[in-house]
Amino acid sequence: MSAAVKPLDVAIIGAGFAGIGAAIRLRQKGITDFAIFERDTRVGGTWRDNTYPGAACDIPSRLYSYAFAPNPDWSHTYSGSGEILGYIESMVQEFGIGPSIRFEHTVTGMEFDEASGLWDIAFAGRRRNVKARSVVVASGPLSNASLPNIPGIDSYEGHKIHSARWDHDYDFTGKKVAVVGTGASAVQIIPELVERAASVKVFQRTPGWVLPRVNRRTNAMTRQLYRQVPAAQRVARDAWFWGHESVALGVVWNSPLTRVVESVALLHLRSQVRDPWMRRQLTPDFRAGCKRLLISNDYYPALQRENCKLITWPIAQLSPRGIRTAEGIEHQFDCIVFATGFDVSKAGAPIPITGRGGRVLGDEWSRGAYAFKSVAVAGYPNLFLTFGPNSGPGHNSALVYMEAQIEYLTDAIGMLLDQDLRMLEVRRDRQERYNAGLQRRLSATTWNSGCRSWYLTEDGFNATMYPGFGTQYVRQLARVEADDYVRTPRDTTRAVSAGGRTAVSLR
Ligand code: NAP
Repeated sequence: MSAAVKPLDVAIIGAGFAGIGAAIRLRQKGITDFAIFERDTRVGGTWRDNTYPGAACDIPSRLYSYAFAPNPDWSHTYSGSGEILGYIESMVQEFGIGPSIRFEHTVTGMEFDEASGLWDIAFAGRRRNVKARSVVVASGPLSNASLPNIPGIDSYEGHKIHSARWDHDYDFTGKKVAVVGTGASAVQIIPELVERAASVKVFQRTPGWVLPRVNRRTNAMTRQLYRQVPAAQRVARDAWFWGHESVALGVVWNSPLTRVVESVALLHLRSQVRDPWMRRQLTPDFRAGCKRLLISNDYYPALQRENCKLITWPIAQLSPRGIRTAEGIEHQFDCIVFATGFDVSKAGAPIPITGRGGRVLGDEWSRGAYAFKSVAVAGYPNLFLTFGPNSGPGHNSALVYMEAQIEYLTDAIGMLLDQDLRMLEVRRDRQERYNAGLQRRLSATTWNSGCRSWYLTEDGFNATMYPGFGTQYVRQLARVEADDYVRTPRDTTRAVSAGGRTAVSLR
């Protein structure tokens, strides 16, 4: 890799929620020599990409935002994607992050040089690499849209749209449309599509548990209150947080409360769907929480519209004109919408990363990703992950978890710089102990109770979810424990030898 100019203190990969949040907290902690490398031309990550009609967050906005950047002006309990994107853009503006972002920089790989303690980062189509003392990987777990591996998918001659790459120029008026998938994205898209298209056929492989969604407009008085009394907004956020925490008992673990969650969802189904056949088709056969819970008031009504049809026969193949199901019927369409989710790096690394001694993260993670507290990986010094392995909540806001990661990794970077370390690397034994405990606890969760979901690898290894309460997760990241790390100073005359490599214990 070619030489670069002066190394940065921190390189952040990705300008989505995590990358922007990390930049803000770095700056607030006095670390200003950083740059964010973003492959797109705009910030926003998932909320820039997911602009399908009806796109919104199913976690209340007051909780789906950073505690360090409260927004009194959320328009509704659950805000739409445009408003969330606006919030991210406003943070960039308010905290002056814009000048630190390098757009159209797609990282193609990075390599750690042990002698200098620097990461060397390469970009697509750019001759000049960037060197950095530390790297924050904030490229997002849901950033690569995935088309399903259905036979004949390339033979289809009509229009194809993925939910995360919406084609806003396509006019659905009068069109015959198929939607493949019935996950969190699909339940938001389908109610919008039935309003626009001539007909919509929904291809369901597995019905999900759907809970009612109570979405209220925030009135002017409440906004005013939050603006003038910030503590009131903190109380509201805390109330949402604890409300979601209590649901963990029924969602993370299979408990009597799981039956309560299921009963609420079944009541919702019964109150909205009259037809017994349709009710049966829409009744899940797995424990609530095993796959992501769906939240919608308008999904079931949309499915019962005259111009909508639920198809539960498995898809056999795509033909040039449409979709052929297992019973041999060909359904013809002008457009197929794939709400089929993302390529999530449950195994393999999000980008090629070469660590100390030439080890390759993708190889080490080939059977499932793992890390220490989801943030650091042994063998990869000075590298920090956001939304890394086993950091997903099934019951609470991902932003609360992300904020905890950001606090932790910015403190770790502070330690690296303050103590003038060449390498800050998590101890392998700590990482192994952490993961052994994690996998033991995961085996008792609903996610491992026998459904197919993007949380698990093909072998059933859970590399995505955190098996516990949000409070537990936040508490474990509250402090960077020096003992968890091997700290190697830049000035090696201060170093002592441990296990054949230069190391020192600084306290
Ligand atoms: P998803 O949850 O992975 O759902 C994909 C859907 O496509 C599933 O119904 C799946 O069926 C179906 N599918 C996949 N391959 C198929 C095939 N070959 N044939 C037929 N059906 C197929 O994807 P998503 O709905 O885009 O959601 C992904 C994640 O994004 C969510 O879990 C959530 O974390 C996030 N999200 C969040 C929000 C929010 O409001 N916060 C909104 C949207 C998305 P099976 O169930 O049978 O696999």
